[in-house]
Amino acid sequence: MAEVELAIRGGVVVTAEGMQRADVGVSGGRVVALAESIRDARRIVEADGLWVMPGGVDSHCHIEEPQPGGGANEESFVTASRSAFAGGTTSAVCFVPQWKGGGLLERLADYEARARHAMLDHSFHQIITDPTERVIEEELPQVVAKGIRSLKVFLTYEPLHVSDAEYLRVLAAARKHQCLVTVHCENYDAINWRIRALLAAGLTAPKYHAWARPPVVEREATHRAIALAELLDQPIQIFHVSCAEAAEEIARAQARGVKVWGETCPQYLTLTAAHMDRPGFEGAKFMCSPAPRDAAEHERVWEMIRRGVLDVVSSDHCAFSFEGPHGKRQNGTERFDLVPNGIPGFAARLPLLFSEGVSKGRLTPEQFVRLGCSNPARMMGLWPRKGGIHIGADADIALWDPARERVLSNALMQHAIDYTPYEGMTVKGWPVRVFRRGEEVMREDEVTAAPGSGRFLPRAPYPLIAPRGVLPNGFPAAG
Ligand SMILES: [Zn+2]
Repeated sequence: MAEVELAIRGGVVVTAEGMQRADVGVSGGRVVALAESIRDARRIVEADGLWVMPGGVDSHCHIEEPQPGGGANEESFVTASRSAFAGGTTSAVCFVPQWKGGGLLERLADYEARARHAMLDHSFHQIITDPTERVIEEELPQVVAKGIRSLKVFLTYEPLHVSDAEYLRVLAAARKHQCLVTVHCENYDAINWRIRALLAAGLTAPKYHAWARPPVVEREATHRAIALAELLDQPIQIFHVSCAEAAEEIARAQARGVKVWGETCPQYLTLTAAHMDRPGFEGAKFMCSPAPRDAAEHERVWEMIRRGVLDVVSSDHCAFSFEGPHGKRQNGTERFDLVPNGIPGFAARLPLLFSEGVSKGRLTPEQFVRLGCSNPARMMGLWPRKGGIHIGADADIALWDPARERVLSNALMQHAIDYTPYEGMTVKGWPVRVFRRGEEVMREDEVTAAPGSGRFLPRAPYPLIAPRGVLPNGFPAAG
């Protein structure tokens, strides 16, 4: 064999398909060899005792997302990249906003400029909050032409939510332009009804965030999101499924052959509503939507993962510091409904999934790779370039020490946020070295990548998101 630029030797290669003792050869940023022994290499990395896994793909994270009132999500592309590498993730799909009353292209140009500082490879979802005729007919085709193949809609949140009519318009546009639609499923009116009633009763502390949005509001919106997508024959992914009753809606639709997939996040496997009941305002550190449930629900979500109903675990990293003008206290501490929603979880995602999944015997190592690397890559049209270790793939590789125990702390997360909701949790299994396209970008917590070295990943149409051609009465009302 000709000399390779880099050989990772002596480790156990773990992919979605299996585990094998193999050396990995890398040249030109790609995997060029998988062999029992690779001798000729310009650089050799010894991986004895380590698991050689694909770099993580986080298909749902909010990075430096500008806000309508000025300012942006506190995490910059540089700090988010550092945090991602620290936790074994090498690619991400993040969000270009649309503000109600505004268009897409100006926001996209701004976001592209921000992303140029990234170290991790990345693609974008396009958020649609206001699908006017101009947005759908004139702007969306130009967004898709850039290789952006996923649209995001919110069925709740002021001011982001769309009505059913607007959601149908987005589904129809996605079908026409061959995009995936991703959906935040909670019932907007039901949540507002509950919030008003809770506030009227004087129940204003952070823990009432969970009371305002019980599983039934998620289940209802999940059912509706799927039914309307089925009506138009448009593939969708349900984001951040927090409970079994919402996942059951997905399972039922999958059994009918509907192209719907479900994603969940570590917070729905580890955090509970009780975390939001901590003294004072501490509970705000755990506030995200859907709200964390309880330990029994965690086990039901694990079961949905094992059944394959939920097949992607993303971070939904959407970070606000606890202190500071852009943080959790920006609207005061008196009312739960005014606290910004979202928690940081970029670096914690894979260590938590590994520890709670593989180390505790709930998942095989192959399942871990599927949930955190391969499936998100397939779902977002990044496969086979990302999410696997095979000939021709980008050499995004994380070396994991399956026996390394660490106590999670904010310093370990390496993000721009002043806290982690996982402070003090012990995990077993940790990424000790990370390579992005063959370049070492993290070693023993030290991130060495240069800002701007990340690449945008344009996505072409892919079979997973093609409509089935099954329409009610065969009538093509999809427009
Ligand atoms: Zn999100």
